[in-house]
Amino acid sequence: MNRVAVIGAGTMGNGIAHVFAQHGWSVALIDTVPAALEKATATIRTNLDRQVKKGTLPTEAPAEVLGRITTATALEAAAGASLVVEAASEIPGVKFGLFEQLDRVAGPEAILATNTSSISITEIAARTGRPGQVIGMHFMNPVPVMQLVEVIRGHATTEATTRTVMETAAALGKTPVEVNDYPGFVSNRVLMPMINEAIFCVMEGVATPEAIDTVMKLGMAHPMGPLALADFIGLDVCLAILEVLHKGLGDDKYRAAPLLRKMVAAGYLGRKSGRGFYEYAK
Ligand code: NAD
Repeated sequence: MNRVAVIGAGTMGNGIAHVFAQHGWSVALIDTVPAALEKATATIRTNLDRQVKKGTLPTEAPAEVLGRITTATALEAAAGASLVVEAASEIPGVKFGLFEQLDRVAGPEAILATNTSSISITEIAARTGRPGQVIGMHFMNPVPVMQLVEVIRGHATTEATTRTVMETAAALGKTPVEVNDYPGFVSNRVLMPMINEAIFCVMEGVATPEAIDTVMKLGMAHPMGPLALADFIGLDVCLAILEVLHKGLGDDKYRAAPLLRKMVAAGYLGRKSGRGFYEYAK
């Protein structure tokens, strides 16, 4: 049986564990916080039950899928995995430390993938003695629902590693797309300037958030307007990604809108804080 270790059991980690286990993989889900593991298991159970209710999974599937997932607080549980998908907090020092440790813990053949949204795959890979086997595997939220996996090749990532990860993503029922490692990859390099421009429009009084989102939904066939999407992602996360683009590409076209900075400073972070461009019931 294929074995994967998923590091980090938050929003993305629970979804990644769910999808691998649903496709027959044995999963070690690892988080330093025991409560995060409990919450992740409960979330996976709820999401599997929803799939059964919708008729997309047979009744017996949730027990089988959950039976393939084991949880652990120590990184040593990644030892037997042929693939590690790291989905821990988006803090460079955390990821660098994890990859140094994973390089020691994981078998020599194992591929070490990261779900980072914005940290350089090349820099993460350089922390290991196997940069050819390090790659970005960027799942989208919510993982069981979203079709895309952006597969990001670091500077040293080998063709063999890329093929294996592309094939794995396809076997999970996803559509993998191969891109090279530059700040923001493709997804955030294209998305964040659009969100930022929508925020400049609010700041300059061009239109209200509702009007801007309606233009983009009805005029451009986007399922969600850029400001509603920014609230969903988290305005602090949008700001952090814009900083990575600005610093990494050195072009002022990526400078964050002052209104975005002000909202983050005020604690208006979007859905998670109950208030961003819109208000949300807590
Ligand atoms: P989250 O905060 O929900 O979860 C992160 C988890 O990592 C927490 O449970 C935390 O306890 C755990 N963790 C932190 N340090 C750890 C360590 N050293 N070892 C093990 N576990 C550790 O974060 P998230 O939203 O799930 O994001 C995870 C990753 O996925 C980030 O790199 C993020 O950029 C990326 N990502 C997020 C989204 C999204 O929409 N949330 C989308 C795509 C990619």
